[in-house]
Amino acid sequence: MGRCKRRGHCCQDVRLAESPELLREAYEYWLRSPSIDPKFSEIYIIYPMLTFLFERPDEDLPYHYRCKHFTRDSDNLPACSIYEIRPRMCRDFPYYEDVTHLDRNEPLSPYDGCGYNDPD
Ligand code: SF4
Repeated sequence: MGRCKRRGHCCQDVRLAESPELLREAYEYWLRSPSIDPKFSEIYIIYPMLTFLFERPDEDLPYHYRCKHFTRDSDNLPACSIYEIRPRMCRDFPYYEDVTHLDRNEPLSPYDGCGYNDPD
C-alpha cells in the first residue's frame, strides 16, 4: 500500500486549492482574531510557511507552493525542520482517516515518485 519514504516531493511542491491571496487574507484575519483556534482549520496559519511557485488552472489543486521548512539532514536526505510540530495536512497525508473511499492498494499520491505510489 505504500508509505512515506522521505523523498520530499510533497514538501517541495505543496499543492492546494487556495490561492496565495486567500491564504494571506486568512492569515491576516487570524492575526486580528485570536479567538480562532487554528486547530479548527490550518488555512488560517499556513501562509507564512509557504512560498508560491506557480498556478495550473486545469488541476484540482491548482496552486503550487514550496514549504520553507523543507530541509536536508546531515546525510542530505529530505527532512522537515519542524517535524515534531508539522501541520496536520503533513502529518495525516494521504488522509486515509478522512477520505474513507481511498483504496490503500492503489497509487494515490499526485506526486510522481512518491512512496505512497510504490506497491510495497
Ligand atoms: S511542514 Fe514539514 S512536512 Fe510539512 S510540507 Fe513543510 S517540510 Fe514538509
